[in-house]
Amino acid sequence: MQEYDIAIIGGGPVGMFAAFYAGLRDTKAVLIESMATLGGQVSALYPEKHIFDVAGFPNIKGRDLVEQLTQQMAKFPIEVLTHTTVSDVVKQDERFIITTNQSMIVAKSIIVATGKGAFEPRKMQIEGVEPLVGHGVHYFVPNPEQFRNHDIAIAGGGDSAVDMAVMLNEVANQTTIIHRREQFRAMEQSVKALNASDIDQATPRRVVQVMPTVSQKLEITLAHVKNPDDIQTIVVDDLIINYGFISENKTVLGWQAQPESVMQGMIVNQEMATNIPGYFVIGDANYYDGKNDLIAIGFGEAPAAINAAIRFFDPHRGGPGHSSAMSL
Ligand SMILES: Cc1cc2nc3c(=O)[nH]c(=O)nc-3n(C[C@H](O)[C@H](O)[C@H](O)COP(=O)(O)OP(=O)(O)OC[C@H]3O[C@@H](n4cnc5c(N)ncnc54)[C@H](O)[C@@H]3O)c2cc1C
Repeated sequence: MQEYDIAIIGGGPVGMFAAFYAGLRDTKAVLIESMATLGGQVSALYPEKHIFDVAGFPNIKGRDLVEQLTQQMAKFPIEVLTHTTVSDVVKQDERFIITTNQSMIVAKSIIVATGKGAFEPRKMQIEGVEPLVGHGVHYFVPNPEQFRNHDIAIAGGGDSAVDMAVMLNEVANQTTIIHRREQFRAMEQSVKALNASDIDQATPRRVVQVMPTVSQKLEITLAHVKNPDDIQTIVVDDLIINYGFISENKTVLGWQAQPESVMQGMIVNQEMATNIPGYFVIGDANYYDGKNDLIAIGFGEAPAAINAAIRFFDPHRGGPGHSSAMSL
């Protein structure tokens, strides 16, 4: 089993900055994230929105903030585990034993940055769709090239679905976007780009059936929302479901190592320490008097927690110094 100085659980913006700072302080750290990509709420819920209250950036798109954090983290050899959900944490003999869906990890201290819970894609609630995931049906698009020259359909009408349709239309042969309303709930610029493209808009329609065909394609049956007898059928190579994400905090609440909490989060002191020695909580997951769930506040909490964690497992180590005094 790998042993780390610090395990950071949750790869949202706050966990990412904590991972960078753990590297800056020369610790052996791992960042564990349940989703395929880092960035937490920013990546999952508002990658195209502009953020105005992050220090040093007068205006930055969510997606670009995550990219900057990724570059900042890459300065140090921090291990990053995505697709990895922490299902249990136990404190045993001064070590934290972390169970994930991939492996067991041991750490001297943990920094929990799980926000309001693990994100997972909102599922298409139609019988027969889940077995087709990986066989033409997708919830994630790791590489647009996989759709080159394919006929594709995207189900969803928010920012992410519209942007994905426009982006994949660059490589796909034919793109159809399916949305249950006439109007898309995306930024004006995105809707403009959609309307200017040759993407077919199947609206207001909902998917009622997805069937594999003998030629390894998918036959999608679409019903008109106001007139269910008005049926349209399309045949595509791929269906990409983009209904947004849901977060669930049951997993974190089920861990055996549970610090004192209130409804808003796990209670921490000014060092972001809980009542369990070596167990720190930052970002939206913690609570103290006057707490606000903001990225800038989480960014301040991250170095406080890392420095306190180092004092916990290595009390004789000095620091922190100023990064401007380092040659990186
Ligand atoms: C629409 C919207 C707009 C916003 N706009 C702003 C804004 O303009 N300015 C601002 O400051 N804030 C804004 N916020 C709030 C901001 O996004 C949050 O405060 C911030 O994302 C918190 O970061 P975090 O890293 O603590 O948690 P999150 O971003 O929630 O990330 C937590 C991560 O932990 C992972 N995780 C959870 N459980 C587990 C587990 N068991 N195992 C492994 N991984 C796990 C999750 O998958 C997730 O990736 C906005 C929020 C929303 C929803």
